[in-house]
Amino acid sequence: MGEFDLIQRFFKSQSQSHVSADAVPVGIGDDCAVINPTPGMQWLVSSDMLVEGRHFLSTVAPQRLGHKALAVNLSDLAACGAKPRAFTLALSLQRADEVFLAGFAQGLFELAQRHGIALVGGDTTQGPLNICITVMGEVPRGQALLRSGAQVGDDLYVSGATLGDARLALEVFRGTVPLAGEAFEQVRRAMECPQPRVELGQALRGVARSAIDVSDGLLGDLGHILKASGVGACVDVDALPRSPVLAMQDLSLQRECGLAGGDDYELVFSAPSDAAGRAAVAAAAAASGTPVQRIGCIEAEPGLRLRDGAGCLLPNLFSSFDHFK
Ligand code: ADP
Ligand code: MG
Repeated sequence: MGEFDLIQRFFKSQSQSHVSADAVPVGIGDDCAVINPTPGMQWLVSSDMLVEGRHFLSTVAPQRLGHKALAVNLSDLAACGAKPRAFTLALSLQRADEVFLAGFAQGLFELAQRHGIALVGGDTTQGPLNICITVMGEVPRGQALLRSGAQVGDDLYVSGATLGDARLALEVFRGTVPLAGEAFEQVRRAMECPQPRVELGQALRGVARSAIDVSDGLLGDLGHILKASGVGACVDVDALPRSPVLAMQDLSLQRECGLAGGDDYELVFSAPSDAAGRAAVAAAAAASGTPVQRIGCIEAEPGLRLRDGAGCLLPNLFSSFDHFK
């Protein structure tokens, strides 16, 4: 199988069957794709790269890898409140392994179809396994959710019910936590099959004042909101959502996973704390079918303070993931 057969068979054939030809008049096959923007909308663009051994283990099923490569990118669109439109795929592969490619494409296109997003181009080369996706999405002009909009007095929220499970799975793979059977499968699914909060992100336009997705750990990513907005925050660590599996672990591991875990792909966001603001967040959560949990508030004093459920200040011993530290 040559490069062009590979592209045709695994990628071009399913690239935009689920998208109107009007939206993408030219997809895979020419030097560039041609995409029609929706009038009145702004484009949002983001890239994320997955490197074997760094972002995923060689044990991951190809289908889950295809899913995750797109999911982590859609999560960035979700954080900005964007509707996904198109993506490109730059793929470096050791060899044209058909079983791998078929599984990878299946996971990739299942998620692409669910979100109505077309694969419009890419690049394919031989080399170490490396997957880079660029996503493009749209928001009505001026309505993108940004990190910089948090205001003193805002409530802080996190989406989902299983923050920290992906990190718990990583600890199982590292051999530091024993977990087997269905409990292990559950946290492994969180790590390998994250569900980007695309519907919630769009529902939060005009509701949230700031947002980010949690890829490197709650505290680190929240720190980006605080820095960009020039504010501080207080987080109630006992308010963090946790799965029954994580809740069975010892308290320090629970906190490490929830606060500094990474790979969660939940949204952290702030919104006005008055009754109307809280009702709007609840309505966005209900409309998108996504649970959200209030975990703290934005404060004027810079920095991040952690409290337990009884209100006692805790030391912040957690650091988020940094590739070059
Ligand atoms: P070029 O030589 O202009 O870079 P290529 O020969 O690399 O083009 O690719 C041919 C076509 O296939 C282009 O439209 C390109 O966008 C697309 N393509 C290549 N690799 C992929 C891939 N992994 N996924 C989707 N489209 C791809
Ligand atoms: Mg090329």
